[in-house]
Amino acid sequence: MPTLCPICQKGTLRSSKYSQNVYCSEIEYDVLPGADYPQSVGCDFDFDFGRSKSEFGVELTTADVKTLIGGGEIALPDGDTLIFDPAKRLMRKSN
Ligand SMILES: [Zn+2]
Repeated sequence: MPTLCPICQKGTLRSSKYSQNVYCSEIEYDVLPGADYPQSVGCDFDFDFGRSKSEFGVELTTADVKTLIGGGEIALPDGDTLIFDPAKRLMRKSN
C-alpha cells in the first residue's frame, strides 16, 4: 500500500533508486516569472534518510525508514531511540 505524504497528505511517497531519499509524488519544480532558477511549486517533501550514517552511526533499512515515516522509533546502538519529524525534516534522538 502506498504511503501518504506526511506533509501534503495528498501525494504518495517514493524512494530514489540511487540514494536513501524519500520524496513526495506531488513535487514539482517550475521557473516562476521573475525567478532565475526553478522553485518548488507543489509539495516539497524530499528527505535523505542516508544521513543517519553520518549523524547517528546507523544504516537504516527500508523497513526502518518506513517505521520512521509512520511515526515509529528505531533503536540506536547507544541505547537511545531515533525518531523522525516530517514537518521539521529532521531525524533526532527521542530523549
Ligand atoms: Zn507531499
